[in-house]
Amino acid sequence: MNKKTLLLASILATSLTGCLQSQINKSINAAGSLVEGISVSKQQLVQEARLSAKEMDKKAPVAATNSKYAKRLKKLTKGLHTYDGQKFNYKVYLVNAINAFAMPDGTVRIYSGLMDLMNDDEVVAIIGHEIGHVINEHSLYQYKKAYVAKAAKEGLTAADGTIGHIAGAYGDIAEDYLNAQFSQSDELESDAYGVKVLYKLGRDPYAAASAQQKLQELSGGSDSVFSSHPPSQKRIDLATEAADKISGKK
Ligand SMILES: [Zn+2]
Repeated sequence: MNKKTLLLASILATSLTGCLQSQINKSINAAGSLVEGISVSKQQLVQEARLSAKEMDKKAPVAATNSKYAKRLKKLTKGLHTYDGQKFNYKVYLVNAINAFAMPDGTVRIYSGLMDLMNDDEVVAIIGHEIGHVINEHSLYQYKKAYVAKAAKEGLTAADGTIGHIAGAYGDIAEDYLNAQFSQSDELESDAYGVKVLYKLGRDPYAAASAQQKLQELSGGSDSVFSSHPPSQKRIDLATEAADKISGKK
């Protein structure tokens, strides 16, 4: 295992990135102020993100198509391969962590630890949440930050504020991206999106709230584990309200 693979493996094994729990990546946050002045087209970012996703898949323990995890995910993502005009692709990483993430190209990866914890509707709630990050372009913005940070580090930002193709850096960018955190409002917006996805698929819209409930229980009832995110109780309450509203109970 080379150093990079080792790093990725440790990220996969230990961190709940992006959505459920995340570490703060200082270089990416610093890039937040830089990122506004840099122009990279959506098309370029999506293409680069696709390469980063491929790099991740090469290093990660992807569940074989005939495994129980892949079969279950295939069943659960029926009707979700094109959604809201965006294409999505799904795989399971055989990592015992409660995690999931999406990339701006429509790549969605679910960890086996999360699938073990959640029932079918709850897994779909998480998938819907991830879809929400892509549709609402939260993922695109996070990826842009990771990309700009990398380009700045490599001295690849041109004087006119454009960035060229960064050769061979997709693995690094993917790691930075996975360590970045979404804002609280992004998380709440995606929670609400997940409720809509459940409803549209004829699944239980309250599964988004029960998924959050399970996460809160895992964190021992305190918000310490999820300190960088909206308090779990607030997320549970808002997801419940959204389910009430969509199912006509309020
Ligand atoms: Zn999220």
